[in-house]
Amino acid sequence: VRRGSPAAVARPGNIDDLEATATAILTIDLTALVENYRRLAALSAPAECAAVVKADAYGLGMAACAPALAHAGCKTFFVATLAEAIELRALLPQAAIYPFDGLLPGTAAVFHAYELRPVLNSAEEIGDWAAFCTGAGVSLPVAIHIDTGMNRLGLSRAEVEALAAASDTGAFELTLVMSHLACADEPEHPKSEAQRIAFDGLRGLLPGTRASLANSGGILLGPAYHYDLVRPGIALYGGKPQAKGRNPFARVVHLAGRILQLREVPAGETIGYGASRTLKRASRIAVVAVGYADGLFRALSVGDGEEGMSVYLGPHPAPILGRVSMDLITVDVTGIPEDLAHRGAFVELIGDNVAPHEFAAHAGTIDYEVLTSLGTRATRRYIGG
Ligand SMILES: *Cc1c(COP(=O)(O)O)cnc(C)c1O
Repeated sequence: VRRGSPAAVARPGNIDDLEATATAILTIDLTALVENYRRLAALSAPAECAAVVKADAYGLGMAACAPALAHAGCKTFFVATLAEAIELRALLPQAAIYPFDGLLPGTAAVFHAYELRPVLNSAEEIGDWAAFCTGAGVSLPVAIHIDTGMNRLGLSRAEVEALAAASDTGAFELTLVMSHLACADEPEHPKSEAQRIAFDGLRGLLPGTRASLANSGGILLGPAYHYDLVRPGIALYGGKPQAKGRNPFARVVHLAGRILQLREVPAGETIGYGASRTLKRASRIAVVAVGYADGLFRALSVGDGEEGMSVYLGPHPAPILGRVSMDLITVDVTGIPEDLAHRGAFVELIGDNVAPHEFAAHAGTIDYEVLTSLGTRATRRYIGG
């Protein structure tokens, strides 16, 4: 849902006034998205920089993100499913679109109708595509995924050798040979180099084909991993592709929730479901209108003796106390000035003070899952781009 603009927000009484009517606002900064794309493209040049927009652009909205990336010069897009690819085709009539999931039985004609390029993951899929192309009398573009040690999707060494020896490879146009790194988020892990060497050996069997190995983390591993095309996802959306060091990518996501009520709660009282948190001191508690249905994982709950995440009111941290409910959290705003902690005020859940990967660490997960769990209830605001 694309509603309003920052200018409209300033007008009081306007029913498009997001700040007045929303209980939670998810702001997606398309200027930051484009900045991240340009940074990744510069890091990877002369390789082509594609974009991974699967899972609705990691939850941020493919309908807004993909055209912004195309406008920034991105020509090749990856999604996971055929349904996502069909949706993307309607947005970008010119782009090269590759769904990672490959070819399910009986779907070749659909790929052809929408000019999509499956990423073929097995000898069976290659056989289906070759048969379709031969039957239709057309040589259609396709990518091949080879497994280099992840043992998830992709052709085995024996299958690549059989493909290289086969006579029917002329039935289709092989535009890309790719593989995927298992440990690109840990630069010191020996698995990445082992996979790169395996990839070199296997792609050598299919000479003259463009090659792709790197996701976001792989781009940061250096030029040896870039080949002809890179496939970043998380870094575009402001996630942190490598576990250590600072994140070089701009913040794209800001989630703010609104205070519905403030209450003074005496020491010894408990808060929320399960009475899991007993107050040690008299506290001023703000009830904020976001919960696990908005991506605030229930794992962010803070029971007795536990230390949890803080949300922010301006520069002031306010610790989450008690259970996260579907629609609400309770935070301790004792001592925070009333011009920030008042009924109707917004608090920051993800943004300048709390990065997605920090939020994730508190919930025992990764920023990828934080972004794809944001849900659809918060009012969405796209800015910039
Ligand atoms: C999701 C995915 C990517 C993008 O990975 P990031 O870590 O988000 O950059 C690249 N390649 C494949 C095969 C993927 O599944």
